[in-house]
Amino acid sequence: MTEKDERPFIKITLDYLDNPKIDALSDAGIVLHLSLMLRAAKNNLAAHKGTKSPLIDGKLSARSCETRGKPVLKELIDQGLLRKLSPTTYELHDYVKHQTALGIIQKRSASGAIGGHTKNHKNRHKFVDTCEHCQTAFENNEEWLKHPELTATPPK
Ligand SMILES: [Zn+2]
Repeated sequence: MTEKDERPFIKITLDYLDNPKIDALSDAGIVLHLSLMLRAAKNNLAAHKGTKSPLIDGKLSARSCETRGKPVLKELIDQGLLRKLSPTTYELHDYVKHQTALGIIQKRSASGAIGGHTKNHKNRHKFVDTCEHCQTAFENNEEWLKHPELTATPPK
């Protein structure tokens, strides 16, 4: 069995190139559109990890939108794929509709973390002091922490 690829990815439908808005672009325009979607996804991941950038959910700096020249940028604007929000900021059309919004990334991360806590800590009677869910369980005096076989990791 091959291991699951854990690298982050963006979603592109199989008919991406057949979309009339994309079909109308030059090759440079298509590359710009793809690279901006990748950048927007990277921005969301960075924001999830704690950067305070306002460039989330499809918002991009004007500088990153101009990397292939203004005529190429204009192609995307003319096709309604990119919208100017301010002199320094653009926004990808429908980014959160097709890609993963920051709020979803955060929700999934939290549920993944609580899933891991339930499986590896609570169900195995193992208190891990660096786990926020274990800490919450301790504060709430949860039953599983009174299990006779409860173990605890030493504080770091
Ligand atoms: Zn835990």
